[in-house]
Amino acid sequence: MEKKLVVAIDGPAGAGKSTIAKLAAEELGYIYIDTGAMYRSVAWKFLQEKQVFSPELVGRLAAEMEITFKPEAKLNRVFVDGTEVTEAIRTPEVTEIVSKVSAVGEVREAMVAQQRRMGEAGGVVMDGRDIGTVVFPQADLKIFLTASAEERASRRHKEMLAKGMQVDLQQLQTDIEARDKQDCEREIAPLCCAEDAIYLDTSSMSILEVTAKILHLVREH
Ligand code: C5P
Repeated sequence: MEKKLVVAIDGPAGAGKSTIAKLAAEELGYIYIDTGAMYRSVAWKFLQEKQVFSPELVGRLAAEMEITFKPEAKLNRVFVDGTEVTEAIRTPEVTEIVSKVSAVGEVREAMVAQQRRMGEAGGVVMDGRDIGTVVFPQADLKIFLTASAEERASRRHKEMLAKGMQVDLQQLQTDIEARDKQDCEREIAPLCCAEDAIYLDTSSMSILEVTAKILHLVREH
C-alpha cells in the first residue's frame, strides 16, 4: 500500500497556496487543511467579541473555540463552534487584523496542537506559514511557494473582481506587503522557507503547472 504523506506548503499571502494545495489534495485523495483559515477564524471570533485587543483575550478565544472544515467540491467550508464562517473570515476587517492575532503565542499553541492532530495520520496537504518549520518539521515533502508581490497582488485583484468586489490594485499590493512583513518579522514561528523545502517561484507559472509539479514531487517521493 502507498504510504500517505504529510505535504507542507508554506509561503506568503497570495502565492496561490490554498488553490494549489486543494487541487493537489483532491488529486491524491488526501485531506486539505487551510491553516490560514484557522487563524482567520480566531481573528473573526475576536471581532465578534467587540472588545479591546489583548493577547490574553485572543489566546483564550483560540483555546476555547472549535474550528471544523467541511470540504466541498469548489469550497472548503469553515465552521467556528458550529457557525459557518467560510465567507466571514475573508472580509477586509479580518484580513487587516489576522497577522496581529496570529503573532500571539497562545493562539499559535492552540492552532498548532489542532493542526498536528489533524495531520498525524498522514494523507494530508497542509498550507500555511510555519507548516514545514514548526507544525510538521518532519513532513515528507515541503514546498515553499512564492511569487513577486506585484504578481500576488494582481492574482488577488482578479479573484476579487471575479467575486464582484471592487478593490484598488496598488492598495492590495501595499496590504499584502504589510502582512508579509508582519508574518516574516514576528518572534514566534515567522514565515520563512525551511532549509529542506523545495522553493518554487510561481510568478510565471500557471496554477495547473504548479499543481502538476507538486504531484510529480509527491509521486517521486
Ligand atoms: O493563508 P492566509 O493568507 O489566509 O493566512 C492569513 C494569516 O494567518 C497570515 O497572514 C498569517 O498571519 C496567519 N497564518 C500563520 N500561520 C499559518 C497560516 C496563516 O500565522 N500557518
